[in-house]
Amino acid sequence: MVQHQASAPAALKELSARLGTDITRTQGAGGNTSCKVDGTMWVKASGTWLAQALDREIFVPVEVAALTAALAAGDPRADKATDFVVHEMNPHGLRPSIETSVHAVLPQPVVAHFHCVNTIAHAVRGDADREVARRMSGLPRLKWEMIPYRRPGLPLALEIARVAPERPDVLILRNHGIVVSGDSVEEVDQRIEAVTAALAVEPRGTGEPDLEGLSTLARGSAYRPPNDPASHAVALDEAALRIALAGPLYPDHVIFLGGRLGLLDEGADLDRSIRSAMEGGHPPPGMILVPGRGVLVSNTLTEGGLAMARCLAEVALRVDPTAPIDYLGAAQVYELTHWEAEQYRRELDRPSGA
Ligand SMILES: [Zn+2]
Repeated sequence: MVQHQASAPAALKELSARLGTDITRTQGAGGNTSCKVDGTMWVKASGTWLAQALDREIFVPVEVAALTAALAAGDPRADKATDFVVHEMNPHGLRPSIETSVHAVLPQPVVAHFHCVNTIAHAVRGDADREVARRMSGLPRLKWEMIPYRRPGLPLALEIARVAPERPDVLILRNHGIVVSGDSVEEVDQRIEAVTAALAVEPRGTGEPDLEGLSTLARGSAYRPPNDPASHAVALDEAALRIALAGPLYPDHVIFLGGRLGLLDEGADLDRSIRSAMEGGHPPPGMILVPGRGVLVSNTLTEGGLAMARCLAEVALRVDPTAPIDYLGAAQVYELTHWEAEQYRRELDRPSGA
């Protein structure tokens, strides 16, 4: 009988924790890593945070051959991948990441996928192909591919499966993030450093938020200024504000902050701003932008939502204001918000005790 390893390799846990604690690479429960060992793929569990990789079990074992066969056969069970978990090695009953199929279709043993804000700043551009090619030209030994936007999970995995046989080292996912693969954790680690350096953008600087003014505006409402001072920057830069208000740029923004943000112009009424953001059947906005002052977040926002508020500032301050931008459209927002696997992930992100 084959002796299976009882957990993911220590090196993968260490890399995961590092990726998970860098806000420019991972925000909240986003991002996932995996390692294939003797036919078992250890992949991050849904709703867990990479940042916790050294503190608790965040990896769940999946039978990779059975999962890839299901993917190839168009079996819908491949989307959630829960039917392919090696239950006797999963004592905590963890559910695999919603992006497990993405890891499974890649032949390389080690795969890291994360929501690098520098990558996203290019990947939302209409001219992403040209801009990324220009930056990656300095790394001729890395084979990379641009992947068009698809809903995370099965549709994205099927898109990646088209290029997977060529064993690309790096995948740039339009309006989403990056995937870095390799033969070892060390190789993936080195590639991550090289690629993120090549794609790095200095965020535009801004003035200070008006925390006192924001608190006054929010008094008596279900909103408040977030504690993280850097989250306010999105409303302190004209271009970032315009980009943020024009539409959602990537999936986790939709999942944790909703499809539409609020806007509170100088002298306007907060209740009216909230109602206006809800027009067309939208839920109350997770975040309200107050131009020149900062942002307000809903009191119902979870840790994941607060992390996405910060992420928006990090991305929007890095996007070239002159570049054409592709946003997620209504159909794409709908498919993200009506997907059972994402509802489960949001559920896990509720405050403890809730
Ligand atoms: Zn992702």
